[in-house]
Amino acid sequence: PSAHANLKDKSDRATNEQVLDPRTRLILFKMIGRELITEVNGCISTGKEANVYHGLTPAGKHLAIKIYKTSILIFKDRDKYVTGEYRFRRGYSRNPRKMVRLWAEKEMRNLKRLVTAGINAPDPLEVRENVLVMDFVGDSEGWASPRLKDAKLPSEAVQSLYIDMVLIVRRMFHVCKLVHADLSEYNILYHNGQLWIIDVSQSVEHDHPAAFDFLRNDIKNIEDFFGRLGAQCLGLRRCFEFVTKEKLSEDASTDDMVLNTWLEEKIDPKQEESFTSNQTVTAGEIDLSKQKDQAHEDSVFLHSFIPRTLNEVFDPERDVERLNQGDRNLIYADTIGLVPAEDAVVELSRRRVANQDSSL
Ligand code: ADP
Ligand code: MG
Repeated sequence: PSAHANLKDKSDRATNEQVLDPRTRLILFKMIGRELITEVNGCISTGKEANVYHGLTPAGKHLAIKIYKTSILIFKDRDKYVTGEYRFRRGYSRNPRKMVRLWAEKEMRNLKRLVTAGINAPDPLEVRENVLVMDFVGDSEGWASPRLKDAKLPSEAVQSLYIDMVLIVRRMFHVCKLVHADLSEYNILYHNGQLWIIDVSQSVEHDHPAAFDFLRNDIKNIEDFFGRLGAQCLGLRRCFEFVTKEKLSEDASTDDMVLNTWLEEKIDPKQEESFTSNQTVTAGEIDLSKQKDQAHEDSVFLHSFIPRTLNEVFDPERDVERLNQGDRNLIYADTIGLVPAEDAVVELSRRRVANQDSSL
């Protein structure tokens, strides 16, 4: 059967599922005409916002073709990602085809940034309106690699995959300047024993006003997933700190060396002291109590307000009022490490004085 016929069969079927409208089919036919692809076949995934198809190049190379749905309803709950984005500062059009096009183009750019930074992610080849063509993550017979959620992970690999994961999130933040914003075992593929990041159309710039909220969610998903599998994890708050901290070490230690040290710091000195003064405590009890402390710390952190950076959004009056209201914790991140607001106020005034001194 010709490639043409093949696309037609599949697209007719898909049209019934309201995906491939005539215009999308035209885009695919043009791609075939230009010999970017020769055929579009089996659907790899049907999702709320997009379907992903398997395709082939004339040279027989496998491709993934992500086709975004153009129904307006789907994009309603995406506003939170767009608000505060410079690229969308004029608001976006109410025309669903135009909106979808922006999302597809954004995914292409974000994938490129990941690939450029050396993170495992499908290399995007081309985007045309709502159609994104990218490298296929799977085997030579055209079977897509499983999502992390469905993968059979060898138990001895879990710890090092966790470490890889944390390093990827850090690299994404500092090198790509992106927060994934939908990171979980559903959007990571397990391919050739490694983690591959996908689905980055909603990813936000690291200076997006809500970047830290998205990042905290991403990290929570990672910590929960690997924690369930028995990996020794940093804990939500520590992990957030590891990912966002500007400078991890004073010497030449690499990120993975620092991460290993952080993971080895099992009991912090303060806790150790309080335990050694009580001779009857057993190791098990220390662990349990440590876990409880960590769970408490993480749950406080989960509900804390994290301004994006100290210098950008510091507004003492607003923040002190927030603190006095007492219902939320306030934590400053990034520039001075994670510290409670009181300490941040001290640190900031110290800096302001230092800046004034140097400007004299
Ligand atoms: P969405 O979640 O918005 O539907 P995704 O980008 O997460 O879209 O893709 C949906 C599914 O399609 C993924 O879970 C994965 O199984 C598959 N998939 C996506 N991109 C690729 C790719 N490049 N190679 C192989 N499979 C892919
Ligand atoms: Mg997805």
